[in-house]
Amino acid sequence: MEEKNSEAKRLKEQLFYSPAHADDFLIDADKAQADEFCEGYKSFLDAAKTEREAADEIIRMAEENGFTRFAKHTLYAPGDKVYFPIRGKAVILTVFGRRDLADGVRIAAAHIDSPRLDLKPNPVYENTDIAYFKTHYYGGIRKYQWPTIPLALHGVIVRADGSKLAVNIGEDDGDPRLVISDLLPHLGAEQSKRTLSDGIKGEELNVIIGSRKFPDCDTDAVKLAVLKLLYEKYDITERDFQSAELEIVPAYKACDIGLDRSLVGAYGQDDRVCAYTAVMAALDAETPEYTCLSVLADKEEIGSEGNTGLNSQFLAQFIADLCAAEDADADDVLRAGECLSADVNAAFDPTFPDVFEKNNSSYLNRGVVITKYTGARGKSGTNDASAEFMGKIRGILDSDSILWQTGELGKVDAGGGGTVAKFIASLGVNTVDLGVPVLAMHAPFEVTSKYDVFMAYKAFCAFFKAD
Ligand code: MN
Ligand code: MN
Repeated sequence: MEEKNSEAKRLKEQLFYSPAHADDFLIDADKAQADEFCEGYKSFLDAAKTEREAADEIIRMAEENGFTRFAKHTLYAPGDKVYFPIRGKAVILTVFGRRDLADGVRIAAAHIDSPRLDLKPNPVYENTDIAYFKTHYYGGIRKYQWPTIPLALHGVIVRADGSKLAVNIGEDDGDPRLVISDLLPHLGAEQSKRTLSDGIKGEELNVIIGSRKFPDCDTDAVKLAVLKLLYEKYDITERDFQSAELEIVPAYKACDIGLDRSLVGAYGQDDRVCAYTAVMAALDAETPEYTCLSVLADKEEIGSEGNTGLNSQFLAQFIADLCAAEDADADDVLRAGECLSADVNAAFDPTFPDVFEKNNSSYLNRGVVITKYTGARGKSGTNDASAEFMGKIRGILDSDSILWQTGELGKVDAGGGGTVAKFIASLGVNTVDLGVPVLAMHAPFEVTSKYDVFMAYKAFCAFFKAD
């Protein structure tokens, strides 16, 4: 609307914060680069549907770009690049800077696990001539979203002799897919009276794996036929599922969304979007001022638990290992450290506006989102980044013309969530959340904006190269 009073118009331009759309902010070169960058991003998503596959893919990319495996007590020179695997499910990439470690490190920390369905230890059963896998969901899912979509099986089986079998069924064109059934609407009247959260229950997330019988077999003929097939193909028996980590994930690939191809649709973008952008920033870092770490962690979706999650000592232990060669003090390094906790936020959804507070939500195509705090209710369970650190990050992003916004995770008291930020902050590191807004977060098919993905990459690059 045209302002009648020209002084008011001038003052508004001077004093008001008005969020910009990437189309009005980015130069054409950035727009073209964003599209190209997301071609690599989509390939990464397809190659990295589990934390193990992501860790492997990140190490492959790192080695291809001159990273070598970290060796303790080696004195590295500025510009040297190393990777450090953590039990096959997490990775730390490090690019050594000009300064001493004691001056602090710059950390970008993302997670590479995503919500999914894990197989139970005794998963195989037969019911009415159909063989199934029993599942136990991992992370926050809306259970009703998982039936009637094509599913794939990924993971590892470790036999009693220690030999390990990698499983990946349902991704190649010729592969079969798996599926969870749902009722037809004609018979769904009673089920439709359930609440949405109960629409499909945990014990109803049963995955169909076969329906043909082993000949002349009295009971469990379909189960037997399936187990025989698995035995012939993989040399495994039912007992081997007890020492396995097998994950059911959507079988479809990442793709462009929208007639204008402006968005990326895929499974597992929380948080592989920040993992990929943080990894690419490390690959592209050239002798930074401070030593830079991209930390790709597991188990964030269940509270960063276990020895591959960031609520463990693995990061502090690695910093101590880095310090061993330089005779630096790990606590000094951490206290002087700075971290972008690289995780996604909920993008404002115009179809469901009620759970968002419009002035404090993140939006698609408005750039990376800085999230000062997460948590629930009265900021319970969050790192709450300091004004000083917010100001510093703001300056870094502005000086590199990176489009950024702030966002809370929905309305106060509408819900809540958390990230790895509080665990890294607890080591003494100055930490704030920064990542990409996502539509339909935690769904089997999530949506991000290509511009925002590219801005996240540029943000991590700027953070790493800042003085
Ligand atoms: Mn996340
Ligand atoms: Mn999540």
